[in-house]
Amino acid sequence: MAKVYGVIIIGSGPAGYTAAIYASRANLPVLMFQGYQTGGQLMQTSEVENYPGFEEGIMGPEMMDKFEQQARRFGAEMLPEDVTAVDFNRKPFVVTSDSGEYRAHAIIIATGASAKWLQLPSEERLKGRGVSACATCDGFFFKNKDLVVVGGGDTAMEEATFLTRYANHVTLVHRRDSLRASKIMQDRARKNPKISFIMDSEIAEVLGEKEVTGVRLRNVKTDEEQKLDVQGLFLAIGHQPNTELFKGLIDMDKAGYIVPVEHTMTNIPGVFAAGDVTDHRYRQAITAAGDGCRAALDAEHWLANQG
Ligand code: FAD
Repeated sequence: MAKVYGVIIIGSGPAGYTAAIYASRANLPVLMFQGYQTGGQLMQTSEVENYPGFEEGIMGPEMMDKFEQQARRFGAEMLPEDVTAVDFNRKPFVVTSDSGEYRAHAIIIATGASAKWLQLPSEERLKGRGVSACATCDGFFFKNKDLVVVGGGDTAMEEATFLTRYANHVTLVHRRDSLRASKIMQDRARKNPKISFIMDSEIAEVLGEKEVTGVRLRNVKTDEEQKLDVQGLFLAIGHQPNTELFKGLIDMDKAGYIVPVEHTMTNIPGVFAAGDVTDHRYRQAITAAGDGCRAALDAEHWLANQG
């Protein structure tokens, strides 16, 4: 008979590893599927300066390695594989990957979210070298710089406004002739003397060899191009929660974020969710880790009450 785990955790970002630390320290047999991006989103970044406990800052991959080692120390088993299917109708629950079927009494979904990018080769090359998708995370590195923010929704207005705390100037670039953002957010951005707007335009290329030195903009109506000298480019065109696997099974909002019904428990008793997969607002390592802790404690209490 195949082993039945106490908890299977899907995802190895700050939420998944924190859940693994708590659940395995509570003596539950834990199996984690680390997924295609072992370590989660922080593997794409360089310096993390806002996670408490690392007063000098720490490189994202190094921090995630520490999370992993801490979870392994308490006995969590790990598979560097994607989950390809789940069956929440069977008890114990069944989780499938390329290497087979695995069973557990409780599941924690911590599959995170992915920032949407422009998909330009120049953007890919300069990610972490002036190209960012997180103003809260990286704004501090751009003191007195000139920046571009791309997007037309509330997030773009919020990020542009936030970045003026550090930046010399922020140019907001949007590919339509009007903004999608709420009036109050638009008004706030428009009143800010450090923000200017370029409409009907998209980024054709991010310029710079080792770091961002500018962007080439293209007007989508006239095809005219112009160059802007900037040192940073912030994308604010949305995030995609990684929830495809759970569509039709777990309650989600319109954007596909999982909506827990009781603390971290989803509409399926015994299935919990934590981190960016449930959070379109804060999207930080510390909030994801806190959520992973809550999910593990909720799972532990739920399992104890199953008799
Ligand atoms: P994620 O980190 O997104 O991890 C999701 C995990 O799920 C991954 O391991 C992935 O492999 C796995 N997964 C997905 N689908 C499957 C599947 N089907 N099967 C198995 N596994 C799967 N936050 C900060 O606090 N400070 C910062 O300085 C900072 N900088 C950032 C820089 C960048 C470039 C980015 C993109 C984000 C940054 N963030 C920062 C945000 C932070 O990374 C996220 O808030 C945090 O990683 C969310 O953690 P999570 O555990 O919810 O999910």
